[in-house]
Formats: sequence, structure tokens, C-alpha cells
Amino acid sequence: MNGQARVGLVGGSGVYDLAAMENVREERLDTPFGRPSDSYFTGTLGGVAVAFLSRHARGHRQSPTEINYRANVCGFKMLGCDALLSASACGSLKEEVAPRHAAVPSQFIDRTRHREDTFFGGGVVAHAALADPVCPALSGVLADSARGAGLIVHRDATYVCMEGPQFSTRAESKLYRSWGADVIGMTNLTEARLAREAEMCYASLSLVTDYDCWHETAEDVSVEVIVAILGENAAAARRTLAAAVAAVDPSRACGCRDAMRFAIITDRAAIPDSARERLRPIAGRYL
Ligand SMILES: [Zn+2]
Repeated sequence: MNGQARVGLVGGSGVYDLAAMENVREERLDTPFGRPSDSYFTGTLGGVAVAFLSRHARGHRQSPTEINYRANVCGFKMLGCDALLSASACGSLKEEVAPRHAAVPSQFIDRTRHREDTFFGGGVVAHAALADPVCPALSGVLADSARGAGLIVHRDATYVCMEGPQFSTRAESKLYRSWGADVIGMTNLTEARLAREAEMCYASLSLVTDYDCWHETAEDVSVEVIVAILGENAAAARRTLAAAVAAVDPSRACGCRDAMRFAIITDRAAIPDSARERLRPIAGRYL
């Protein structure tokens, strides 16, 4: 445990480490929700205390369904982080959101099916507000940093979070377009839900690799094309994260860090000791 507020960084497809970090220490954590994807790397980035985690584990060994999102977010909390900046790959659902562009989502549509996405349950009921699922302060910082890193940025994007690991069928892709969504990915909403429950600010930089499969003229999405563009995008993501970390305002007035003040509805006297213990790193101050 470290009392100092750190900025947590989650690297997605293509971003498995941050070479620019200094004073690096590897921290292998166990949480009440199991083991995170990989070791955390704590240290500094441009003088700011950070913790980095590779979402799919180094070597890309865990599918979006297999990731233990709860352990990942809980681990960041245990390391004293109160903000999470995520970088990930996504597909585009709109012509104007082209490959190599960046989207900063402000809304999500959930199409996941097989994953744990709440810390609560098991005797403790909480209803977190999710109308605005990402931190406005951190999103602004990420968007500005991405622009500064030379990316074309689409702010306030709507992100469809699908289960995967397969990509969309053509009918699904067309359906999501009809909903007005901008990009599609497999991880970000689950993290946003859990970050909200853990009272951490969350924002995400989604780098576009492809046009999913709806596009009439572009080639249908394939892993070969995606991996090539991932490499280019990863360099831009690293530059963006480094700049964003330096611009996070510790005294931001967004409300994320008090998000659960009125969310736990269960009579405190009825909460089992086991649940109290499990939730201690996440919501200990309310139990
Ligand atoms: Zn916030």
C-alpha cells in the first residue's frame, strides 16, 4: 500500500510496457478478487507517480473475456491510484473515424455476456450512477494530449463494448451503426463500471485500427491488418499517456472520487463479515 495518489495506466493491444517510465519496480499483487492480468510496474513518468498494467498480460495471453477486470481495478486501488487512463484498440463504425484516428469515449453500449463487472453482490447491494460513465476531467486531458501527440481525435464518442473474442458479424456491425455508435471494442466499459465502483476517475483513449466489417470498400477486419496498424498506434498511445499523466490535476472537481457515497443500499448491520473483508480495498470507508 502506498498513501500517495498515483495515476494508473492500463495498456491494451499493442501497449504492453512503457519504456519511458523511471524508477521502475515490479509489484505482483493478489486481491480479494483474484490475480490481476500481470504484475504492475510502479515508478514515475515525467516525475509523476504511476502504476502500469498490461491488460492482456505481456505477450497478449488473455482474451477480453478471460481478463480479471475486478482484480485489475482493485490492484490499482490497492497501489494508491485514484485515476485510471486506458489505452486500447478499437474498430470504427463511422466513415469519418478513420484507422489511425483516436476516439475518447464518453458513452458506452454494453454487449458483453461472460464477465464479472461489479465488485458488489454476495450480501452487499450497491447501485452506482453510470449516466456519465467516464471522468470529464481525465477525458479532456486525454483528448488534448492525443491531439498534442499528433493524433486526429474524436471526442465524446459512443463505444460499443462487445464480448469477443470474435469480431462482429456484418448484421451486428450494421445494427451498431444504426444506433449511432462511433467505435467498437471489447474492454473499456467493464473497466469504466469497476472504476466508478472503486471511486476512481477513468478515461480511455481508443485508437482505431479498422472499419469493422460494415464498410463497403475497405477490406473486412483481419488480424494481419490490425496488427500492422496497432504498432503505429502504440507509439502514439505512449506519447499521449506520457503527456496526459503530467496534465492530470490532483485537485480536479469531477466527483468520481465520491461516486459511491449514497450507492450502497444494504443495511450495514446485515452485511456479512466476508463481504466486508472482500470489499475493504474498494469501499471500506462506507462499510
Ligand atoms: Zn473524475
